[in-house]
Amino acid sequence: MIGHRGEDFKNLYRTIHPKLQTLFGTNQPVFLSTSSAWGVMEASIRNLVDRGVLCCMCGAFSDKWLDVAKRCGKHAEPLQVDWGKHIDHKDVDRQLASGKFDTVTLIHSETSTGVMNSLEEICSILPKYPEVAVIVDTVSSFSAVKIDMDALGIDVMLTGAQKALALPPGFSLFSVSEKAFARAEKIPNRGFYFDFLEFRKEQAQWMTPSTPSIAHIHALQSKLDEIFEEGLEARFDRHTRTNALVHDWVRRAGFDFFAEEGFRSKTLTSVKNNKGIDVLEFARKLRQKHRLVIDPGYGKIRGQTFRLSNMGDETEETVSHLLACLDDIL
Ligand SMILES: *Cc1c(COP(=O)(O)O)cnc(C)c1O
Repeated sequence: MIGHRGEDFKNLYRTIHPKLQTLFGTNQPVFLSTSSAWGVMEASIRNLVDRGVLCCMCGAFSDKWLDVAKRCGKHAEPLQVDWGKHIDHKDVDRQLASGKFDTVTLIHSETSTGVMNSLEEICSILPKYPEVAVIVDTVSSFSAVKIDMDALGIDVMLTGAQKALALPPGFSLFSVSEKAFARAEKIPNRGFYFDFLEFRKEQAQWMTPSTPSIAHIHALQSKLDEIFEEGLEARFDRHTRTNALVHDWVRRAGFDFFAEEGFRSKTLTSVKNNKGIDVLEFARKLRQKHRLVIDPGYGKIRGQTFRLSNMGDETEETVSHLLACLDDIL
């Protein structure tokens, strides 16, 4: 182990930082948070929301953000669509035109439903609302598809360790725009552990506000080496190909998609159980016979769906193997 206030740590942070900026598509500092993604999701609310936050809700994770914002004592309102549907930028536009909100929360790839919202469409309306800050969760899409934080005009972009990056859980990354820093300066009661201004001050010296999980940062360094060795375009293409394999299987096996067409995540597929199989038994047998784990549906759609991931380290070989084993159990 190395000390977190010494030169070794500063060199580690300094070394990985340009690669992180490339992955975020930003010239802003990228921060290392020793928390799971929810730490940064809550932090974003505490650092940015003054007048009110519009929570774009289309699944378990994005729905929960409304509750989190309220528990932080903020005025929060839902923009709720049915699970399986995407967030329509025209609805966001209409809500923001009310002038009630200074912040928006949005999840890019809603991991519970397999919906991928269009950042291009939603972010295209933001220039009309210069006083609104947008927070985007890219936990299950980061590094799997191209996301340009600066070009899109995202104010806080965050991701966790254990989904698209395939690292052990308990760590997350985020970046903050100049506009969001300026906002944070005026917001009282930001606390300490997740204060964006503390992160900025410490990052300027290649440090973190409190003792970070250095083991995670070593793992991240190794993962970044893998990512840049493969190449970003090749990594994006691999996700496209493995996702297509899953989609082909869904159709071939006679299932439907839970997410509506045109808005299906490139990293994970929520399969609709239109055939009425016993999904829990299906998952149990898969685990017992093939030592493979799939999720039998999240929250209220447990059993009505199951989820197949092609994110992180999955290859055409591993995904094909999974699909062959699913056929065997079916
Ligand atoms: C898993 C997930 C989270 C929450 O991550 P934690 O590690 O539990 O904090 C948030 N958003 C999305 C989209 C997720 O998939």
